[in-house]
Order: sequence, then structure tokens, then C-alpha cells
Amino acid sequence: MPPMSSQPILPGSTLGVFGGGQLGRMFTIAARRMGYRVHVLTPEQDSPTGQTADKEIVADYADINEVEQFARGVEVVTFEFENVSSASLEKIENHVPVRPSSFVLRTTQHRLREKDFLKINHFPTTCYHEINSKEELQKFAQEFSYRCVLKTASFGYDGKGQTRIKSENELDMAWSNIGGMQGILEEWVEFDREISVIVARGVHGDTEVFPVVENEHYNHILDTSIVPARISSEISRKARQIALGIASEIGLVGVLAVEMFVTRSGEVLVNELAPRPHNSGHFSFDACVTSQFEQQLRAVCGLPLGSSKLLRPCVMVNILGDIWKHGQPAFDEILKDEDLKLHLYGKSEPRVGRKMGHFVCFGDTVEIALQKAQQAKRILRIHPFE
Ligand code: AMP
Repeated sequence: MPPMSSQPILPGSTLGVFGGGQLGRMFTIAARRMGYRVHVLTPEQDSPTGQTADKEIVADYADINEVEQFARGVEVVTFEFENVSSASLEKIENHVPVRPSSFVLRTTQHRLREKDFLKINHFPTTCYHEINSKEELQKFAQEFSYRCVLKTASFGYDGKGQTRIKSENELDMAWSNIGGMQGILEEWVEFDREISVIVARGVHGDTEVFPVVENEHYNHILDTSIVPARISSEISRKARQIALGIASEIGLVGVLAVEMFVTRSGEVLVNELAPRPHNSGHFSFDACVTSQFEQQLRAVCGLPLGSSKLLRPCVMVNILGDIWKHGQPAFDEILKDEDLKLHLYGKSEPRVGRKMGHFVCFGDTVEIALQKAQQAKRILRIHPFE
């Protein structure tokens, strides 16, 4: 029998994670630190999560026999990315708590379902249309005055499956890029900056919100996160309120990242949801009383949440596989800065665009942390110093 939702899953128990990436790895580190055991189900052998877990089961997420056997060996199941089979989670939900639920996963793993959910519940988001044919694309792109972006409805992340449209001539290319898949056309937002808010919600509806993060992307991939975001307290209040509202409306148990645009007129629009720890929350591992990974652990185990308080301003920078083209990166050099923390994910193959690790720089102010981050970027030859 699965434990009642009010019954905490205490240290010593075994937790199940779907997905073998760095988010699962950091979750596992947080869980093991608190005396839990972790099993991971992943299609990839020697995965970043598998390296730190007690047991790595290599299987397809849609292989229901493997998934059911996996579920029998753990006391709760959580996941570290959205592209896992929500149907598999739905099946095992009868035997074991799945947190966040398969409903949360189903809603957020599909851009149209996610946007519909936001719209129906009156959360501010970008204008969008469902696209199933080239004719629909032509019609709605014109409606947006050819200032829009076409995205695949599912399986998109880090800008994959996205084409920006700036003129009528680009429609053919955009349509062929989504390759006949269902699409979503969004109005292009001329944002002032991008921010994200990570919120944790426990089994009793208790919540904790992390400080607002300011995000800079390069080539559609997160490059730098600055904490706290350089925004007014009014915008910060609005953003946190939206994130809390979404977490409670969707019935979250776990951690949810809400990516948002701040427009030039001070509006806050939701871009995307991720019902799991998020790249823009990595800073919390070193910079908060309780990290996003420990909050996920506490939430899914039915434990009280910890404080999300920021201990010091900081800047996180992603380390992509690109920099290995210059040879082994000079990690020993950046570690000379005593206010820098380095994380590497145990991936052996440094491909272009692949997230291999990150570093976090601290300062008494965001400006000082930014200067330190620039210095380390220069040493590692990260954009714009490549
Ligand atoms: P996404 O995968 O939807 O998070 O998009 C990746 C990045 O593309 C975002 O972080 C933005 O920088 C940019 N982007 C996506 N959608 C829009 C939009 N509707 N307007 C402006 N920028 C966008």
C-alpha cells in the first residue's frame, strides 16, 4: 500500500527518480545527504544521476513492465525532466505516490496544454494560436504582423524545435522546421528582461518561494543567472505571486519553475513552466538555506519545507561542452577565486551545446558577483570570450 499523503516518507526510505540528468544528480546528492536511498530509471547507462544514485535501472520510460517493477522498489516517484511518459506515471500512480502528479506532468510537457491552462486560470501569458496546417500558420502569422515564433507543441527545450518569424518569407522554412508536428505560434515579446521564480509546495499546500532570478540566454540556452534579479520590488512581488498562484492552481507537490518575461511597460508574462528543479535555480545549491533540490526532496517526502532565503548575492554561469574545443578547461585557474563554487555533472562527452556543469560566484553585491563571473568566463573562454 502506498503511504497516505499525510504520512511522511522518512530518511532511510528509497526514492525513485525518472530521468538521469544533472537535475536528478543534484536531487540525489541532497537526498543521500539526508540519509535516503535513491533509485533512478533512465535510458542512458552511467548517467549523471546514476553515478550518484544507489541503483540505476536502464530502461525506456514507456516500458511499462520495467516502470512497474521500478515503482515496486521505491516509496515515492518523482522526475527530473518533462519528456518522460505521463502515461507510465499514470499507471503507477495507483500503487505509489507520484509527485508532482501525472496531471501536472501532462499539462506542462505540452506547450498548448500548458498555455491553455494558464489562459483558463487567468495567468498572464503571451498571445498564442494552435497550428496544425500551413494555412493556419499563414493566417495567424499575419495576425501577429510577422512578429512571432513557431514552436513544436511537445518535446521542446533550450530553443529546440523553435523558429523565429520576422517576415512572410520565413513561413515556409518555419513550417518545414516543425516537420508536420503540431505547433504553437506565439507573439514575439519585446522583453526588457527574462526572469524566473521557483516555488516549492508541500503535501499540505504549504509553500516556499525562492528569490526572483534574472536570466540571460545565448543561442537559446541559459547562459547566466543573476540573483537577486535587478528589478523593482513591485515586479518581484507580481512575479512571486504569479508563481505561487500557478503552483496552487495546478495542485503541485514538488518544485515548479516559472519562466517569465518582463515587458518594457512592466508587465509580467509567463513563458514556460517546468514542474521540477530548474537550471536557473542551480545557484540555490550553494546560496540558499535550502536548495531547490532539497525542497523537492522535502516536498515529495511530505516533510516540512526549509527556508528558501538567499544567503549572499550570486551569479551562476553554465559550462557547455563548447569550451572543450580549446582543450581541457582551466578549472584549477577559476578555483583560485575563493568565492567561486564549481559543479561538474560527470558527463564524459563534451558536445557543443551540452550542459557539462556550472559555477556560482558570490559577492557582497550582485555587481561584484558579476565581475567575478566575467573573470571566470574569460579564463574558461565562455561566451563572449570564446
Ligand atoms: P522556451 O524554450 O520557450 O523557453 O524559449 C527559449 C528562449 O527563447 C526564451 O528564454 C526566450 O529568450 C526566447 N523566446 C521564446 N519564446 C519567446 C517569445 N514569445 N517572445 C520572445 N522571446 C521568446
